[in-house]
Amino acid sequence: MDRSTGLVWLRNDLRVSDNPALAAACRESDAVVALYIHESDTGIRPPGAAARWWLHHSLIDLGESLAKLGIPLIVRSGKAADVLAEVIKSESITTIHWNRRYAPAEVALDKEIKENLRQQDLAVTSHPGNVLVEPWMIETGQGKPYSVFSPFWKTLRDKQIEQPLQKPHKVGDPIKPKQIDADYRPPKWSKKFDGLWAIGEAAAHKAIDRFLEQNLEYYPEGRNFPAKDVTSRLSPHLRFGEISPRQVWHTALARTHSHHDQRAATEKFLSELAWRDFSYHQLFHREDIAKAPMQPKYSAMEWRSDEKALHAWEKGETGMPIVDAGMRQLWATGYMHNRVRMLVASLLSKNLLIDWRKGENWFWDCLVDGDMANNPASWQWVAGSGLDAAPYFRIFNPATQGERFDAAGDYVREWVPEIKALPDKWIHNPSAAPKDVLKAAGIALGTTYPRAIVDLKESRERALEAQARL
Ligand SMILES: Cc1cc2nc3c(=O)[nH]c(=O)nc-3n(C[C@H](O)[C@H](O)[C@H](O)COP(=O)(O)OP(=O)(O)OC[C@H]3O[C@@H](n4cnc5c(N)ncnc54)[C@H](O)[C@@H]3O)c2cc1C
Repeated sequence: MDRSTGLVWLRNDLRVSDNPALAAACRESDAVVALYIHESDTGIRPPGAAARWWLHHSLIDLGESLAKLGIPLIVRSGKAADVLAEVIKSESITTIHWNRRYAPAEVALDKEIKENLRQQDLAVTSHPGNVLVEPWMIETGQGKPYSVFSPFWKTLRDKQIEQPLQKPHKVGDPIKPKQIDADYRPPKWSKKFDGLWAIGEAAAHKAIDRFLEQNLEYYPEGRNFPAKDVTSRLSPHLRFGEISPRQVWHTALARTHSHHDQRAATEKFLSELAWRDFSYHQLFHREDIAKAPMQPKYSAMEWRSDEKALHAWEKGETGMPIVDAGMRQLWATGYMHNRVRMLVASLLSKNLLIDWRKGENWFWDCLVDGDMANNPASWQWVAGSGLDAAPYFRIFNPATQGERFDAAGDYVREWVPEIKALPDKWIHNPSAAPKDVLKAAGIALGTTYPRAIVDLKESRERALEAQARL
């Protein structure tokens, strides 16, 4: 009898446990081959540069785990349909499995590929693996997609989230992992991330274990304070599917004791995880959210063109310490704390009135967790064009936000060391500090540290007027 060989096409699901596509292939076939494609299809957004660094290491880790199960991981570049055709032929594949993805262009491509393969009498099955609840499985009382988070969360919370699947059994003797193709290397500058992060499936599970043991109880309050660093740091692991959202969900619930405070902390954490699903809900149901404002009237927004200000923002040289700290943290580590992401995005899209898509693109290239859904949805939330966006009049003041969420200036002093000698009173607003205070701290504004590039009060009025004209 002929041996059957199944193919798993991996995309944002670089894990062996709770991987429905991999589990099905292992169940059905005598042998399994795994494939990752660096896709060059039009409309498929390639990962940004920092995320590519993560991806490269994640694929190496995954290749090793798969090899232990007797499954080779093939990594190729090109148009998905062409690469699939080649691999199907060379490996004599009879069945194909993948976990679904949700951006409109991805859905369209997968549908086309599925139909073509089925016409060639190949068995193709797609599975749910990357969200808690698939975008079409959750709808309002009127049968419409949700546009507001709170009722979305209430509905999701009442759903039974499926239990994660176990790691599949070996399909063959362990093999030597294949060499990962060198033609899609991360950029040289991402070398600086080496040693900062632990990448891969085991590291993702360690991250959640550490978070639940050490930080969960401080999470509801502490998550707003960038210097406290009490959040889970799971975002890049979730971005590449090294851990599934339902593994995170059920692990958090299983570790929660009946103590009231702990239950409340878990609920808060799960609701933040649900924001990720809400972003995917929007990604699936709307036109390309990285390009089109979700509220159409925002297409008429009169954005300013100011390359100098954009560059100062990108480099962390705006003269607003908490913004500069965030942008430098991003550049140095590929990550930025959520509170600070909101502040830098608000400064760019509101005070500087620069098109949020420019900021979204910069984040996309610099974040190790740059996510198809979370990044554009969060940018639109801050800029005001999202469906459940921050109200248009909410324009964060970086100085007062800094005083509130980094009162001792620890976060700013870590990332903007040239102003660290300033007293706490002025650390978030050096441009307003008296001359003698600046001198004593060794700061010459405009030379050792920039003057604030924008007047917060005036630019706030300008942003409100621009929004009022829509
Ligand atoms: C302008 C802007 C851009 C963003 N871009 C991204 C992005 O590209 N990728 C990304 O994963 N997140 C993005 N976020 C959301 C959020 O900042 C990060 O998910 C969070 O900081 C990751 O840190 P953590 O894993 O320690 O979060 P935790 O607080 O520990 O949360 C656990 C998980 O829940 C999800 N989550 C938490 N907060 C949010 C949120 N506000 N929106 C959506 N999901 C959330 C994430 O998957 C996160 O890993 C962005 C936020 C803003 C304001």
